[in-house]
Amino acid sequence: MRIDILTLFDEMCDRVFSESILGRAQKKGVLTVKCHQIRDYTTNRQNQVDDYPYGGGQGMILNAQPVADCFRAVCEEVGCRPHLIYMSPQGKTLTQQRALELSKMDNLCVLCGHYEGIDERIIDAFVDEQISIGDYVLTGGELPALVLVDCISRMVPGVLSEDACFEDESHFSGLLEYPQYTRPAVWEGREVPDVLLTGHHANIQKWRHEQSLLRTAKHRPDMLERYDLTAKDRAFLEQNAEKDETAAESDEN
Ligand code: SAM
Repeated sequence: MRIDILTLFDEMCDRVFSESILGRAQKKGVLTVKCHQIRDYTTNRQNQVDDYPYGGGQGMILNAQPVADCFRAVCEEVGCRPHLIYMSPQGKTLTQQRALELSKMDNLCVLCGHYEGIDERIIDAFVDEQISIGDYVLTGGELPALVLVDCISRMVPGVLSEDACFEDESHFSGLLEYPQYTRPAVWEGREVPDVLLTGHHANIQKWRHEQSLLRTAKHRPDMLERYDLTAKDRAFLEQNAEKDETAAESDEN
């Protein structure tokens, strides 16, 4: 998969994508992330990319021309017109499901706004989708773009060692993940739940599912409303709703 990012802070984005899992994925050739400096496409002598808003008001607006030319250059370089996402607090909030759908595309382009935003005509002319990372406002679209690209990339085949690495996590199944532990079995008097030390795979799976149910009920009841609970899940939740997550042990353990 190839993702192009249009930004005024290309070095900041490049730095993040060259590190850790995404850096290794690029070296392996399963992912390409390329950042483009919008300022390189200005046609004025001062390389100015912003101007005052028509009608007055606070702040500056990113000009349409350099953004349009930058996107056209990307289309030419890629050899097709990639799906263009504008990071915006006015977009639909990013979800795991939307990120999974986007991870199946061959090409994506992400536009980062800055200042008070961008000239609306860019949105009208080119933008296919607007995505927000939450109901709050940041100074620029770079951090939201990094969040989006990170979330999408880890679901691209070959980026993580196994698909199970992202399938078995919070949000993918519609539940939050169960608690996780590593060695030692006792740390400062706190013990790892017995069932995890038994090696009994079916019991461990059952315990994990139940912990996920309890955790989601406690921290994100809104997610549980959308989750397809079985009759067994409902009965378990009714019996254990009052208990602390890790205190609730399955009957069979
Ligand atoms: N004036 C705009 C408004 O009220 O909708 C906000 C502009 S914001 C200060 C500057 C840029 O940061 C935006 O163009 C967008 O690219 C990015 N941005 C800020 N908050 C964001 C969020 N929650 N999600 C995605 N992008 C965001």
